[in-house]
Amino acid sequence: MQIIDGKAAAALLRAEVAAAVAARVAGGRRAPALAVVLVGDDPASGVYVRNKVKACAETGIRSIEHRLGAGVAEAELLALVEALNADADVDGILVQLPLPPQCDATRVIEAIDPAKDVDGFHPVNAGRLALGLPGFVPCTPAGCLRLLKGVHADLAGAEALVIGRSTIVGRPMAALLVGESATVTIAHSRSRDLPALVGRADIVVAAVGRPELVRGSWLKPGATVIDVGINRVTGPDGSARLVGDVAFVEAVEVAGAVTPVPGGVGPMTIACLMENTLRAAG
Ligand code: NAD
Repeated sequence: MQIIDGKAAAALLRAEVAAAVAARVAGGRRAPALAVVLVGDDPASGVYVRNKVKACAETGIRSIEHRLGAGVAEAELLALVEALNADADVDGILVQLPLPPQCDATRVIEAIDPAKDVDGFHPVNAGRLALGLPGFVPCTPAGCLRLLKGVHADLAGAEALVIGRSTIVGRPMAALLVGESATVTIAHSRSRDLPALVGRADIVVAAVGRPELVRGSWLKPGATVIDVGINRVTGPDGSARLVGDVAFVEAVEVAGAVTPVPGGVGPMTIACLMENTLRAAG
């Protein structure tokens, strides 16, 4: 049984990015620059943005933070995106989701120049991924694939189950696995008999947002489990803790390899954002 160390894998990827950034700068080019737009004061978003800014500092990427009030008009946010698109000193643009209700996330994402869309959420990049063409891949599934490749040299022919069909995790994850020639099933809230689907999978990627939905007894012995879920739960003693979408303690008894929560997919997501920003800088 292997507990997949996402923290260590992420540190390695950040070190690779840092070395490439340092080489660029030594060659007389400017450091890559990432503009991070945070709207409102959602506490979870605040934590994510802080972690992204910290990773930029560690890799030598310049981060430019734009904070807008929760009541900002959509037109003002779109104008900021336009200005960042036009700014030659900005390589990557990230608008932290969720946005307040008056700002339409689809419209805002579509306003981002696809060449600066380091989150990979723009329809052009989503379309390129669906077509198997190079483009920016969303950071969470990209990180999951890296972790999977650390366990499986070759994913061809593997039975892979992706639980969740969101545009930021489930769908792009499935597209990446198809690209690796896995046999891919996507399960979602309307799927019938999730335990049976899990039971035949060599690879399970859970991106649901339901604490410990996937039980250890459902897993095929030896399966590789990537747990994307981040769920805050309150224990019997009233203390808060984070759990994934997979019952970790049960899964380690059956799986061949499993990611912990926290310390699995989360750190890889941010490291992949750094990698995408480096690529955006060209
Ligand atoms: P989402 O709410 O957009 O999508 C959840 C998906 O789960 C939906 O497609 C839905 O159909 C499916 N689903 C719901 N109930 C189900 C059930 N009972 N059986 C099967 N499928 C079911 O969520 P998301 O944005 O994809 O995020 C999923 C989880 O991953 C959340 O916990 C989120 O916090 C976490 N997340 C983590 C990272 C990271 O970096 N680690 C990044 C993004 C999201």
